[in-house]
Amino acid sequence: MARIIDGKVVAAELRNRVAGEVARVKSQHDLTPGLAVLLVGNDPASEVYVRSKHAQTQAAGMASFEHKLPTDVTQAELLALILKLNRDPAVHGILVQLPLPGPLNAEAVIHAIDPAKDVDGLHPSNAGRLAGGFAALTPCTPLGCILLTKSVHSSLEGMSAIVIGRSNLVGRPLVQLLLNQNVTVTIAHSRSRDLPQLIRRVDLVYAAVGRPELVRGDWIKPGATVIDVGINRTAAEGGKTRLVGDVAFHEALDIAGAITPVPGGVGQMTVACLLANTLRAACAIAGLPNPAV
Ligand code: NAD
Repeated sequence: MARIIDGKVVAAELRNRVAGEVARVKSQHDLTPGLAVLLVGNDPASEVYVRSKHAQTQAAGMASFEHKLPTDVTQAELLALILKLNRDPAVHGILVQLPLPGPLNAEAVIHAIDPAKDVDGLHPSNAGRLAGGFAALTPCTPLGCILLTKSVHSSLEGMSAIVIGRSNLVGRPLVQLLLNQNVTVTIAHSRSRDLPQLIRRVDLVYAAVGRPELVRGDWIKPGATVIDVGINRTAAEGGKTRLVGDVAFHEALDIAGAITPVPGGVGQMTVACLLANTLRAACAIAGLPNPAV
């Protein structure tokens, strides 16, 4: 029976480390890290995420600046706000909640963010630095995946992994982070052939696809560590919906060595990593050494 990796516990430990370092930079350097979150429109799921980010940012002792903009905000108005936040010394992290509604161009918006404040790690400057093996602000969900894996294996060196999915938000940066840990990585995507055979060979499985229970239990190498990024809503009894991952959890439990549940796994880590990135950005902008988080 696999060990269930508790994302709540790992995320709470990270949030505690962040809060400790925030208190230290406040007292030693009079620096209060600040995160600005921009939400366009009133998508209920995005509103829940933004509220949670706001509460967790404040709980860590940081300043939280929420900018709620109407659905009909123009591209020019949104860009003007980003440029203002780029210049604001109280703001060290800028996050635009995606997806953006309507005709707004997400790529242009992301490109407008100062790379030093790009705590989502999506600016091409940060993506390029990460791909080149240089220090970079890195997308939060892949960072969370690495921390969850390290809660099982203190060193990943020499291990083999598969990353299923090649999005800019999860799959691609995760591949780079695994390379930085000296892991041998296979990248799979919608055109890959014989996914079960590719998965059966590896020690670490990362599923970031968005297909409910795509990865079956008997595809997994016995004892492998499985990190399930997928969040899929499926129909449940009584007309309700149920969240499931990209991995058939109950099948995998019998075969894997360790596995993250959905919910309660990777999803818990994303905001905690966002706080860590905001603290890192604040220290870098102030010319301080990297915080110990
Ligand atoms: P995406 O749609 O941008 O990318 C999906 C990837 O899966 C693509 O690269 C595609 O090539 C690949 N793919 C599609 N079908 C495939 C198949 N049959 N076999 C192999 N690969 C296939 O999605 P994303 O933004 O990377 O998100 C992936 C999943 O992770 C979604 O369920 C999303 O909700 C979830 N997610 C969770 C968090 C979190 O905090 N837990 C954060 C981001 C995304």
